[in-house]
Amino acid sequence: MSFHSGFVCILGRPNAGKSTLLNALVGEKLAIISPKPQTTRNRILGIINVPKNKDSQQKAPQEERYAGQIILIDTPGVHRPDSSLGRKMMAEVREALEGCDLILLIVDAYHKWGPDDTYILDLVKKSATPAFLLLNKIDLLADKRGLLPLIAQFQVVHNFEEIIPISALKREGLDDLLRCVVKALPKGPRYFPEDQVTDQPVRFMAAELIREQVLLETREEVPHAVTVRVDEFEEDPKLVRVAATIYCERDGQKAILLGKGGQMLKKIGTAARLDIERMVGTKVFLQLFVKTQPGWRDSRQFLEELDWRRQLEQIAGSRKPES
Ligand code: GDP
Ligand code: MG
Repeated sequence: MSFHSGFVCILGRPNAGKSTLLNALVGEKLAIISPKPQTTRNRILGIINVPKNKDSQQKAPQEERYAGQIILIDTPGVHRPDSSLGRKMMAEVREALEGCDLILLIVDAYHKWGPDDTYILDLVKKSATPAFLLLNKIDLLADKRGLLPLIAQFQVVHNFEEIIPISALKREGLDDLLRCVVKALPKGPRYFPEDQVTDQPVRFMAAELIREQVLLETREEVPHAVTVRVDEFEEDPKLVRVAATIYCERDGQKAILLGKGGQMLKKIGTAARLDIERMVGTKVFLQLFVKTQPGWRDSRQFLEELDWRRQLEQIAGSRKPES
């Protein structure tokens, strides 16, 4: 039987449950989940190997055990852009949609259709990429019969390949979803090895976990002015060494991030280290630095350096078979 694979883009309004879905599908905490919208700034890669069925023998060769590989991309919440970073985010959304094999448009089943939804649906239509509609948060629905009129309503607005009710939070409907997704993907190669998500995304996730702590600990303009880059990521069986820099835009923000006698940075570092340890499953030695990089949000070069696609290119480069 043939192997199917491809890139799948998760799209939806802020708060629809995109990051929750990504994490539920991949089974790990990949994306920051927050009740506050727009905390996901970059596209994140999640890799799912979908087994043919639950009883496939462990010993069988990979080609026979799996039906396909899904590479998930988490887009930043769609919104009307108001800065260079915002425009970059929207450009990323459009690019992602055109470059992927399937779109998963996720909507909060509860929420009333508004102009922002029309805006998103237009993006889907313009991309001409096949799309599934996911009606999320059905765990909040007291009566599942309420789903039928909702589904009927969405069948009219676009020619979705599938309309699937799910609960990302309670992991309802996800097996069905994965089966449908693999079926909809083209025949293709396994882009990533079965057991490894590669250290580059892990490295990137480490940066996100650090940024999450900054978001939790700081307020007002600081969270928006901050980005994190992992400078070193060395994995040993017993210890992972991480060095990362928190970039902000002004010296005043740097002072807040450091805190009195470095207390704030210490707090952020300790909490982030524990999260990274949970993710990698070993002890972590984390070194954190804070740097002022005025106007980084408007620096194309700097934003490109942060981009995971660059990291992906590096992986692809280092994996090229010698020929
Ligand atoms: P994103 O902005 O689209 O990435 O949304 P998040 O994944 O960060 O989720 C936003 C909020 O909705 C969080 O508080 C989630 O816990 C909540 N949420 C996501 N999925 C579900 C779901 O299936 N059921 C319920 N009840 N809440 C959900
Ligand atoms: Mg998110």
